[in-house]
Amino acid sequence: MTFAEKKNNKESSKEDSAAKAAEELKRPIWERLDAPAREAVEALATEYREFLSLAKTERAVARLALDRAAAAGFAGHGAKGRGGWLHHHGKLLGLYAPGLADPREGFNVVVAHGDAPRLDLKPKCVYEESGLGLLKSNLYGGLKKFQWLSRPLALWGFCALKDGREVEVRLGEAPGDPVLTITDILPHLDRKVQREKKLTEAFPAERLNVLAASRPAPGKPSEAGRLKKAVLDILEARWGLKEDDLISSEFELVPAGPAQEVGFDRSMIGGYGHDDRLSVFCAVKALLAIEKPAKPLLLIVFDREEIGSYGSTGAESNFVVRLAAAAVEAAGLEPRWHDVQTALARSSAISADVEAALDPTFKEVHDELNAARLGFGPCVIRYTGGTGKYGASEARAEYMALIRKIFDEAGVVWQSTLLGKQEEGGGGTVALSLAAQGMSVVDCGAPVLSMHSPFEIVAKSDVWMTARALEAFLRNA
Ligand code: MN
Ligand code: MN
Repeated sequence: MTFAEKKNNKESSKEDSAAKAAEELKRPIWERLDAPAREAVEALATEYREFLSLAKTERAVARLALDRAAAAGFAGHGAKGRGGWLHHHGKLLGLYAPGLADPREGFNVVVAHGDAPRLDLKPKCVYEESGLGLLKSNLYGGLKKFQWLSRPLALWGFCALKDGREVEVRLGEAPGDPVLTITDILPHLDRKVQREKKLTEAFPAERLNVLAASRPAPGKPSEAGRLKKAVLDILEARWGLKEDDLISSEFELVPAGPAQEVGFDRSMIGGYGHDDRLSVFCAVKALLAIEKPAKPLLLIVFDREEIGSYGSTGAESNFVVRLAAAAVEAAGLEPRWHDVQTALARSSAISADVEAALDPTFKEVHDELNAARLGFGPCVIRYTGGTGKYGASEARAEYMALIRKIFDEAGVVWQSTLLGKQEEGGGGTVALSLAAQGMSVVDCGAPVLSMHSPFEIVAKSDVWMTARALEAFLRNA
């Protein structure tokens, strides 16, 4: 073989391997995994299904994440532990883990959110009408109202009483428990009230009334209020609650029952609240897997993302500053304002939030070139927001390069995606609030079908790869 022939040979084999690599990228994650990795995917999926089945409210999510951290040796801020936490108002959780580097040099940060679209009960909610006991609900977050009718709903409640007692209510999850439901009208009679109306008008929020009882409390047939009393009697008998106590309660109606395997091939998981409890699960898993991080780590599970991140437990609060200050303090340093703010501005963050997957039935809302595909790994979303990039923080090019490098070097299978076509709608995440602290931040999360529905779908392989991606980021950013 002459030198020129050798060179040609080498180049064509280079081309071959480039072509092979390009071909490989067309394979879903599952096809690229060997048998032990596939077993790991299944094991994590089972663990995640159990987590999701219990993580039905923002309080439950924060508590489950906190319990996992405690079991791994973390402790409340001020106590001795492998890392620390701040648990704010029962709904917002922040974890910090010390690194080898000085925290004033910046953190690696992952944030996710624990709230999900749902129906709450109004403070005054119990009433009766036409011989039935009913409850008035209130929308929380962006849900499609018709999806919540005619289906089993569970009631998760947290009640604070005047004497300081706290009562937890859970109905509709345990085997043998009754469920609640919201009635819908039969198709034979829906012509005027629904069928001939626009979707936005056919399901008024005030019609989402929850069926709670049909047997009146004992009394005379002519006596009014016996159905309302039937509901109140049960609230009192089972949980010791009086009607007035409902004013200081948080009741959330969520789809009843556990998360399930989906598909003939069992390749997917269906359940309520993948958005964004999948990211919470993966982020906690990733954080706790890292024994001695190079940089100090922060993890935040925010609340109220679905309604704009407002409130004391939302991302628009000062919590990230407080958590960073706590981490600086835990390192034995004085958390001076300027040092903490500078550390945040030097930090690298992932806003871990799920992404809408390309749905073959609704292809027209996606720009296919930039659409997320189920089973192809976590999506890196450079900007969210609306048309014209309104309300988007947008990761800068240098930061995108860093993320690509970290993921590629760690063997993470990932995809670069955008939410949908321009002028189709849009959506935001908590990335904005982190960017406001001067942090580098990008959105990253698993693709989801039927997002914001009572039964959201993800691929098992994407759950596994998302945990790996977040771990690679926390280790190497
Ligand atoms: Mn989300
Ligand atoms: Mn959402």
